[in-house]
Formats: sequence, structure tokens, C-alpha cells
Amino acid sequence: MSGRGILFVMTGASGVGKDTIRQASLPAVEGLHYSVSATTRERRVGEVHGEHYWFLDKVTFKGMADRGEFLEHAEYVGDYYGTPTRAVRDALNCGRDVLLELEVSGARQVKKRRPDAIMVFIAPPTLCELERRLRGRGTDAEEKIQKRLARAREELRAVREFDYVVVNDTISTAVKDFIAIIRAERARAHRVTEQEVDLFLREVRA
Ligand code: 5GP
Repeated sequence: MSGRGILFVMTGASGVGKDTIRQASLPAVEGLHYSVSATTRERRVGEVHGEHYWFLDKVTFKGMADRGEFLEHAEYVGDYYGTPTRAVRDALNCGRDVLLELEVSGARQVKKRRPDAIMVFIAPPTLCELERRLRGRGTDAEEKIQKRLARAREELRAVREFDYVVVNDTISTAVKDFIAIIRAERARAHRVTEQEVDLFLREVRA
């Protein structure tokens, strides 16, 4: 799969604040399309089908996986999560940038298929703070919190596989850092098209 848009992958432990960073950043970076994932996990209070996730049963999810309809998919703490390929491909082909929010193994699958994807890791200031945030959220039973923390410890080891790291200590700073990464990537010289170069040159000659 290729396309003209830039593919951004945001990864980080559950509870680290990825959703908050995304929600605060999207209005500031025009033209960034968020890809809604599919999941088999229970819907949390306030979550909307098609907005937070596509909530699917396991049979439907497996059918999509078997038909190759996911760009990547992974198991996470007893449930399945996956990125439907079509919406991502269509957006990239239209020249729109796309943001995926994935756990580490999904991020690795995407990097393999799209080596040009820009990988951003969101890290907690400390594991104790992550634990405090997971508990404060009040959405998971103790057993799930423990599993999510264990997974977070593993995921932190993958940090060097990423292009950028944002430490979410203060949310406003983390949002600014994330927006800066998107803007910097968009401004890279190799993304300037031949038409744009022609336009610059015409103005220089005029
Ligand atoms: P949560 O249950 O807290 O919403 O998400 C659990 C983990 O799954 C988070 O790390 C989240 O980023 C990740 N996740 C969400 N959607 C996807 C997806 O489509 N694919 C993969 N691989 N991980 C996902």
C-alpha cells in the first residue's frame, strides 16, 4: 500500500494519554485523519461505535482478519484490535495524512508494510504515574490493570524502534511536542513536489 499522505503511528501504554493527546492535537493540525480501529473488547461508558472504535464480536473480527481486511491486528490483554485497511488506504491516496493509535506489535507490523511510516512513542514520566492514571480512570478491574501494567513494562523496551518519543508528564507540553513532530515531518524537503519546486522557481525568476 502506498499513497501520497504521511502515515503517523502513535504508540504507548494503555493509560499513558494517547487519546487525550490525539484529541487535543487534531484541531491544530489540519488534514490529519484519525483511523478508527476495530476491537472485540467491551465498550466503556461513553464510547461510541464508529467514533472510538468499531466494536465487533470475535467471529466478525476473525472473518475480517481471515479476509486480509486489516492493515495490522493484534491481541492485547485478552481482546483483539485491528486497523481496517480500506479507510487508511483511501485517505492516503487522497493525499491526506493518517494517524493510527496502536500497541507495539501492531506498530511493528505497520512499519514492516510501510517503512516510511513515522513512529511516535508516548512514554509516561514514570511507571508509578502510569499506574496511578490507570487506576484513576476507573474503567478496568484490578486483574486487567495488572495485565496492562505488565504489558506497559514490555512496551517501554521497544522505545528505540521509534522515530520520536514524547514524554507525557504535562499534557499541554506533550500536545505541543506531538504537533511539532507532525509539522516538522510535513515540512521535510523531500516531501516537496516537483510542481511546488517549479512554482518557487517561477517566483524567483519573475
Ligand atoms: P484500550 O483498550 O485501552 O482502548 O486499548 C488497548 C491498547 O490497544 C492501546 O495500547 C491501544 O493503543 C491499542 N490499540 C487500539 N487500536 C488498535 C489497533 O487497531 N491495533 C492495535 N494493534 N492496537 C490498537
